[in-house]
Amino acid sequence: MPAPFMFSALSQAKLGTCHPHLRTLFLEVIKHVDCTVLEGHRSVLDQDKAFHEGRSKLRGGSSKHNMTPSMAVDVAPYPIDWNDRDRFLLFVGFVKGVAAQLGIRIRCGADWDGDGTTTDQTFHDLPHFELI
Ligand SMILES: [Zn+2]
Repeated sequence: MPAPFMFSALSQAKLGTCHPHLRTLFLEVIKHVDCTVLEGHRSVLDQDKAFHEGRSKLRGGSSKHNMTPSMAVDVAPYPIDWNDRDRFLLFVGFVKGVAAQLGIRIRCGADWDGDGTTTDQTFHDLPHFELI
């Protein structure tokens, strides 16, 4: 039996800016795997910043993070280790499984086309999950 994990107040606030399906999904995920919400809704200004810093391929206004409620969320396994790519991929697989179980259709930045391989893409956004 895994430890009962909980989102921090900050993670909860960020998740609160997201579509109910994303909230349902990650409230289920956190029961099994500790994780942290990096970003839910993102302003158009912050989206442009993300674009210029190369963290996103989309300009302000065109990301699912810019919608209200946010149709995208960035979540990372906790504690975060950006060098441990395998851990991110395990997490993404787990999230996909839970989403399938709940009947929630998502697209992941680790596998944009959803074909189950990560080697066929050039832009990896490992913590990114969005509703289809
Ligand atoms: Zn994202």
